[in-house]
Amino acid sequence: MGSADVVIVNTCAVREEAERNELKLLRKLSKEYQDKRLIVIGCLTRVRPASIKDAAPNAVLVTSHGAELIDEAMNGNADIYIYDDRPAKYLPNYYPELHGHRYVVPIQVGCLGNCSFCVTKIGRMGFGRVKSYDIDDIINAIANAVSKGAREIYLTGQEISAYGRDRGYDLVDLLENILRKVGGRFMIRLGMMEPLELSRIIDRLLDVVKSDWRVYRFFHVPVQSGSDRVLMLMRRKYTVDLFRDIIMRIRRVFPDATIATDIIVGFPGETDEDFWASVKLIEELGIDKVNLARYSRRPFTEAAYMEQVPEQVKKERSKIATDAFNKVALERNRMFIGREMWGIVSEVDFKGENYVVRSYNYKPIAVRKADIGAFVRVRVTDATPQRLFGQLLESESLGARYRVDFRITEGLDLIS
Ligand code: SF4
Repeated sequence: MGSADVVIVNTCAVREEAERNELKLLRKLSKEYQDKRLIVIGCLTRVRPASIKDAAPNAVLVTSHGAELIDEAMNGNADIYIYDDRPAKYLPNYYPELHGHRYVVPIQVGCLGNCSFCVTKIGRMGFGRVKSYDIDDIINAIANAVSKGAREIYLTGQEISAYGRDRGYDLVDLLENILRKVGGRFMIRLGMMEPLELSRIIDRLLDVVKSDWRVYRFFHVPVQSGSDRVLMLMRRKYTVDLFRDIIMRIRRVFPDATIATDIIVGFPGETDEDFWASVKLIEELGIDKVNLARYSRRPFTEAAYMEQVPEQVKKERSKIATDAFNKVALERNRMFIGREMWGIVSEVDFKGENYVVRSYNYKPIAVRKADIGAFVRVRVTDATPQRLFGQLLESESLGARYRVDFRITEGLDLIS
């Protein structure tokens, strides 16, 4: 950092703890780098502009990630740059030397919800608004990334199931077009899909995913609670039954799809009965991965003014839920022991000991040694709630010693 001219800090306002850490970091950077331009971006700039200026008086705030505004902030004199008409004009570029083989492409911002706990809608564009990138721009960006070596394409956004609602097309149209127009070996990972929006397109989406091996059999559908009463307090726009119906449709087509969801415990007004309804829902549906969060009170939100659940109760529920969800995850993961699966070598794990293969259903499989970015075939030997362990059988990039034969499970003959 010593030789940099500018320090850019990206912030997030979703959780109280993250906000505290970000303000602490800004205070430190502001003192240490008084001679550098300190630019702060991300949604905390909208939610807590005064706290940021308090922590870092020399900070310049930019209320977007738009490259053109950051450019302006680097050279201008203002204290704050406000950008309301996102998304930015340009999709991020793919630099293989920075991103390895993964290209993360935002396809939209905003959502059609107005959840009572959510500060993100304030931090971004306000609620009920969706802005989508142009379909051709996305396809061109992906084609360019694939031509430079990208192998995993992540379609991201606040609520990708609402993609295109402002343009007269939808996520299924986008996916179909990407698959038809971009050639090559790559895998697409779908980002988070809100249940109500997803329910409008689910059958068409499943048809497209089924028709092409290049889409991970992975669905992230955040339910937040297993109790209709709490969903109502949260101002979510669907019922538990609607969520259940979506998951069952997915499982009918792809029994071994990985399904991820989000659960908040300790939401204001959540009773023991509501809490257990969440636990039972995860057990009933065999959800592979749960992102569990203890409710965090955020400024300017309706839920901040509701009667709060005591911290101790939140902690206890969180512990019970973690144990229960781990059991479900382990049971799901054990189903794969002894099976052969294919996938892409995605990264080195956090300890630096193993390579992580992402299988066609986006399960992380730890293997001893592999080439990052290669399509491989693996035999699964063990499982924990978090991941699988496997033995590498074949790899496309290990040269002539290995025969590339992917005709083992669904879709693989297409890649050979
Ligand atoms: S759907 Fe709800 S939680 Fe998600 S961004 Fe919109 S308002 Fe926030």
